[in-house]
Amino acid sequence: MPIRPENRARYPAEWPLISLWVRVSAGWTCEWCPARQGEPHPITRSRVVLTVAHIHDPAPENVDPRNLAALCQRCHLNHDRRHHLAVQAANRRMKFGGRDLFCDAA
Ligand SMILES: [Zn+2]
Repeated sequence: MPIRPENRARYPAEWPLISLWVRVSAGWTCEWCPARQGEPHPITRSRVVLTVAHIHDPAPENVDPRNLAALCQRCHLNHDRRHHLAVQAANRRMKFGGRDLFCDAA
């Protein structure tokens, strides 16, 4: 996933090298599926561009190797979906005075 502009300063200065190291260590293959860098994805057929995901702790500062994985776009998006849904729910609660529109009773 592209780094969000508001999070860019939270990544360590060495992030480009760390990201490269993770992808090289994975053999330029997604760690969660057989997709390989630059080749058509086995499911989506779109060209694979490996990215590095924070798989346990989403904090950009946490670059512990156990927290990072080389993932294809499909696996990265699927992994981030849960986090995105949680952020969207939190934003809805903030927007509507702390009440969750879908879980709080009238
Ligand atoms: Zn994958």
